Amino acid sequence: MGIPTVRSGRPSLDGRPDTPVLIDRFGRVARDLRVSITEKCSLRCTYCMPEEGLPPIPKDELLTVEEIVRLVVLAVEQLGVREVRFTGGEPLMRRDLEQILAGCHARLPDIPLAMTTNGVGLEHRARGLAAAGLGRVNVSLDTVDRDGFAKLTRRDRLGSVQAGIRAARAAGLAPVKVNAVLMRETLSGAADLLAWCLAEECELRFIEEMPLDADHEWARANMVTAAELLDVLGARFTLTEAGRSDPSAPAEKWLVDGGPATVGIIATVTRKFCDTCDRTRLTADGMLRSCLFSDQEFDLREAIRSGADDAELATIWRGAMWNKWAGHGIDAEDFVPPERTMGAIGG
Ligand code: SAM
Ligand code: SF4
Repeated sequence: MGIPTVRSGRPSLDGRPDTPVLIDRFGRVARDLRVSITEKCSLRCTYCMPEEGLPPIPKDELLTVEEIVRLVVLAVEQLGVREVRFTGGEPLMRRDLEQILAGCHARLPDIPLAMTTNGVGLEHRARGLAAAGLGRVNVSLDTVDRDGFAKLTRRDRLGSVQAGIRAARAAGLAPVKVNAVLMRETLSGAADLLAWCLAEECELRFIEEMPLDADHEWARANMVTAAELLDVLGARFTLTEAGRSDPSAPAEKWLVDGGPATVGIIATVTRKFCDTCDRTRLTADGMLRSCLFSDQEFDLREAIRSGADDAELATIWRGAMWNKWAGHGIDAEDFVPPERTMGAIGG
């Protein structure tokens, strides 16, 4: 297992309409940019990382603060991106995260900057991150049972994550959303997790586990489905279907005990939403990806470092997205997971 070597040359623009935005052959337009900034992580969630962590990206292959800011600004100003989310690995593992945020925020004050984090250590940085321009956080938390957390993440850090969530709210990073991956080991604690999130005024969203784990343990027959979760939560709470906030939002929402609080379910596997996908992705080592599940990548780092100007970078980006496929085939017999795992792409 390692960082893949899959690379493609310059993407074809054949048949592409003359438009600046990131349109693909199926008429989808990418407006939501996910930027992974590191492969390092403070946890080792079994559904994501191997026990020993991902192979380190050599320092000179990691995008610098200036390169990240340049690409984010380009995506917004020339390619129609409207939302930017930093992820990883664990974004808090980068000490220059505040600089990345401040650089983007100074150039793009109207664009919402968000981060997906495991929350470890967030307690000490939430205020500084908010001051640097971070607007929102999603914190990943799968269970509020200390032993269950330690087993799933291979680290005993539940207290730090909970403190991080509280600190994020106190710093005004609202709304704090909590992401939980649906795993058989933690399913019986799902109602306790929801109760905790309701008490902390965080919006909880469950995500079906995807075949992106480094240990390749994922099995369709064994995964917990959205339907199973609804049964478990339904035993403690009254859930009323509330639909989606907008058609491209992946989470389907349920009102909890009549509302206004809601719980979301992102049924990535059993209710595929590739038709409305509006994501474009940049990895920590500077590769463009149009889909979590496709191994097709375009090397923006090499382009930047060999002197490409913004117009050339924009052309590569448009071509990468123009060639985006229709969607993943997780349910197909011949499905092959991508070479990069979740931690190496950025969820
Ligand atoms: N370290 C940060 C975190 O955990 O939030 C950011 C990176 S993590 C890869 C982003 C999100 O992907 C997290 O919410 C995590 O739970 C989710 N994730 C990781 N592996 C997954 C998998 N196999 N299936 C579904 N979601 C997964
Ligand atoms: Fe780290 Fe996030 Fe992957 Fe867990 S899900 S191992 S916290 S990158």
